[in-house]
Amino acid sequence: MISVSGLRVRLGGALVVDGVDLDVADGEWVTIIGPNGAGKSTVLRAVGGLVAYEGTVLLGGTALDRLPRRERARTLATVAQSPVVPPAMLVYDYVLLGRTPYIPALGRESDSDLAAVDEVLGALDLHPFAGRRLETLSGGERQRVFLARALAQGAGILLLDEPTSALDIGHQQEVLELVDRLRAERGLTVLATMHDLSTAGEYADRMVLLAAGRVVARGTARDVLTEELLAEHYRVRVKVFDGGHGPVVVPVRR
Ligand code: ADP
Ligand code: MG
Repeated sequence: MISVSGLRVRLGGALVVDGVDLDVADGEWVTIIGPNGAGKSTVLRAVGGLVAYEGTVLLGGTALDRLPRRERARTLATVAQSPVVPPAMLVYDYVLLGRTPYIPALGRESDSDLAAVDEVLGALDLHPFAGRRLETLSGGERQRVFLARALAQGAGILLLDEPTSALDIGHQQEVLELVDRLRAERGLTVLATMHDLSTAGEYADRMVLLAAGRVVARGTARDVLTEELLAEHYRVRVKVFDGGHGPVVVPVRR
């Protein structure tokens, strides 16, 4: 569904992404991990068509730069790491923005657009917030609204840049379970970045470890979340335990 090869991105003269190859199959969940500044967000931005790149990005076999804007928006939805919030916008209207690719120019939203918004507001427990201004929400509540907007877009590919960083563990689990459920129900393909390594491993089919713009490891959580790889690339001392489901990563004092 997503096929990236030889991806290079230059920002401010620096080669921030340096030859990344990455494939995500239809319905698969792949999570990119890596230390701060590794280039995770930049890879996601390139796949989302938000930054200029060299190399190839194919979405469902079609080159990203050959997809017209509206079609791209129906194919792929992005939740950025810290989205810019329009001032004084109501939660409902913000989520409705997700339907823009379906609303004709100068046209109005249809009943099916409103139904789609209603459905995601319900799924994310956001009905009580629908009439609130976005800036009056807590970080976690807002994070759910960002996700709601992306889900309302009805795209088959979801790009999530640290979707749970602002959430308490309860909402973290709720959001990730919801994405996973939608993945099963709607056949969504997910490419995400995440900081919490144990949680990342729980939800990803496969992981990619990025360091200094290059892929340094890839595979299942067990392949990637090893004490050796994490020590080398995060400069951290960790213990990795078998948590039953998958590896549990715990930092330990030096
Ligand atoms: P990550 O998401 O892995 O933390 P990013 O993809 O956000 O990393 O950034 C990768 C690197 O690119 C960082 O070193 C960052 O400082 C740099 N960078 C990001 N945007 C710009 C920019 N506009 N100009 C110059 N450097 C940038
Ligand atoms: Mg980032």
